Amino acid sequence: MDNNRVFTKEVFMNVHGKELPIPSFFQVYNYGGGYADKDREIVYAELTGNTPALINYFYINNSFPHVFSSKLFDEIDRFNTVGDLYNYIRASLIRKGEIYHAYSSPDYDFNQKVFLLDSGAYNIVKQIAESVNYDHDLFRDRILEAAADYYDFADKIKCDIVVGFDLGGKYTEKDGEKSNLQLVNFLSSLNKNEINNALLELTIKYIKEHPNYYPYVLATVHGDTPTDFSDNTKHILSLKEQYNTRFWGFALGGVASYKQVDPSWYDDIDLSPIGKRGFIDTIVPARASKIVRELVGDRPIHALGCGGYNNIALNYYCGATSFDSASPVRRVGDGNEESTRIVFDTTPSKVGFSKFFMGGINMDNTMRLEKTEYKKLNEVPDSMLLCGCPACLQAKTVHNIKQLYSMKSKDTEANYYSRQLIGLHAVMQHRKLCEILSNFTDIYTFSKAYPNKLFHGLKYISERL
Ligand SMILES: [Zn+2]
Repeated sequence: MDNNRVFTKEVFMNVHGKELPIPSFFQVYNYGGGYADKDREIVYAELTGNTPALINYFYINNSFPHVFSSKLFDEIDRFNTVGDLYNYIRASLIRKGEIYHAYSSPDYDFNQKVFLLDSGAYNIVKQIAESVNYDHDLFRDRILEAAADYYDFADKIKCDIVVGFDLGGKYTEKDGEKSNLQLVNFLSSLNKNEINNALLELTIKYIKEHPNYYPYVLATVHGDTPTDFSDNTKHILSLKEQYNTRFWGFALGGVASYKQVDPSWYDDIDLSPIGKRGFIDTIVPARASKIVRELVGDRPIHALGCGGYNNIALNYYCGATSFDSASPVRRVGDGNEESTRIVFDTTPSKVGFSKFFMGGINMDNTMRLEKTEYKKLNEVPDSMLLCGCPACLQAKTVHNIKQLYSMKSKDTEANYYSRQLIGLHAVMQHRKLCEILSNFTDIYTFSKAYPNKLFHGLKYISERL
């Protein structure tokens, strides 16, 4: 394969004067939904440049109390743009000392990023259900009010894109909720389709009544089965005639995990020749993308939560224009205290290490030789060359990353910094894949130019969708 090949075909959507590439990977900013690594992801934002970001309304809106509420969001009214808000947060965190002393932090402006606001409805639904003491009528009224508040909020801080408010996934299967039987029973007794349709109608009316509404709005598509998903898309499209206005694009909801959907989404594809692992999760979002793309023509489609590395190529070739995932950064969270003391020992161990994204594509567009996987940091060879992304350029060597990682007991910020280098490298790998894909018209030409086991397997699935 040619070294340093130069591609030119990248296509962009114009989103409020910012260029959003097709396809785009959205990194998930969970600041306000946790501590430590979530803060540092904002502090070191420059390492992912203008990579678009998904933010979660529940976390950043202090009208919903939660464990990780950040006081900085109390001042949200001071800011005219979401970019200015995050500039303020970053400066505040740096001032607090949440930065490695030997790192020289450049100026950075979040206004260059496209921000997508998602509702985090699952948590909001739970809080409202409790607050109305599980009364169905009151719940329905309050949820509709919450949705209107959400759209107002998105406009006030000028989010670029907003995901339509809906009830979200299958509540009873979420961890930790099973103990609250009253809540579980209430959630399973909800007529979700009816409420989601009411929310959809509220949303399109809202768009109509606010002709100067700033954010571009994505209608959230749902459906238990592929047929339901298709019907729901048609229903959304039919609202255009009724209200004489339309959604900018579509968000695919509830398809991020095959474990939460009806088996008819995936069980007709025999995965035995390529193995189930790493592949079974790619089928559902790919199918959902295909169903919606065939119905909506040339409009943006965002696959919510479906931006894992293995999903990206099929999502794109089946019609999704963007997707998000918290995984690249979340794998860093696997690293515990003990692991920082034994990171130079390459022996496979049961200890929880931060995981490094292996394989992928170098920044000069050449393919990397390692298998695509998240590997425990101690098992990554010191001799392995890094990919050339901003984080890897800062790190220079794998050994340096391990060195910073090992400093936890005497310099916590050095350890946090190493974790950001690892996580943000993974984000840039997801972004790089998106950039490369835009240069190939289909999975055949792409997997031929970038042959490996993963892309070969995806081609196999693509032939059976
Ligand atoms: Zn890198």
